[in-house]
Amino acid sequence: MSHTYSAERAEEIAENLAGVKAKMDQTLKAKGVGAQKVPIGGGCARLVAVSKLKPASDILAAYEKTGQLHFGENYVQELEDKSKELPSDIQWHFIGSLQSNKCKVVAAIPNLFVVETVDSAKKASTLDKACAAASRPEPLGIFLQVNTSGEESKSGMLPSEAVEVAQHVVSTCPHLKLTGLMTIGSPNPDLESGENPDFKTLNQCKTAIEEALQIADLELSMGMSDDFERALIQGSTNVRVGSTIFGARPPKTTA
Ligand SMILES: *Cc1c(COP(=O)(O)O)cnc(C)c1O
Repeated sequence: MSHTYSAERAEEIAENLAGVKAKMDQTLKAKGVGAQKVPIGGGCARLVAVSKLKPASDILAAYEKTGQLHFGENYVQELEDKSKELPSDIQWHFIGSLQSNKCKVVAAIPNLFVVETVDSAKKASTLDKACAAASRPEPLGIFLQVNTSGEESKSGMLPSEAVEVAQHVVSTCPHLKLTGLMTIGSPNPDLESGENPDFKTLNQCKTAIEEALQIADLELSMGMSDDFERALIQGSTNVRVGSTIFGARPPKTTA
């Protein structure tokens, strides 16, 4: 593979990854979740290494030195390029804002594991059709992104819409599999009660959907570098950690 990395850089990334995993294990142990209770990823919850705006060599280093398989990307073009250049057993998570006209490109990535940012029934249908056209052998996993904080700058559906959209996916999108719900917590949550209200709201959406649709075991994708431990305490099964693993990102230039 042509994406060479220095021994120093590889070691740095491996150490950071190990540090996050150790904190995850510690948090889940303290919470009393047996390692077998949520049998996903390497332990009790899945760690998605968010590699947006970082070079492919960083991803390859994490993959080769630590066996990390789950990586998250925000930009369609960048995801497409990296997926072509990097090992085919990497499990990609698309975590950026998904535009309808990009669904086709995303759906055509064979080792795409999940799209975490489906924010409406309409978008789900568009992605469903794109998956059909791409002849994916299995339904594509999706998370419904919920705007739990109500901030206008955040994307995602309202919590009150989640049941209806979930119903839509399950009943009309045969090429999608409803894996769970995703949120981006507010940067400065009021933790007076010890709980992040955003994560609590996402749990409530999960319960509402599971009751209404008579399904079980929906996942929760919540928690990033600053709040993944809190998210795990509140039931996250999928944390998305970027800067703690790969370092600060360059500012995104809007081309
Ligand atoms: C960038 C990003 C992350 C990772 O954020 P860090 O603070 O660097 O850990 C997680 N989730 C989403 C949706 C992101 O866009």
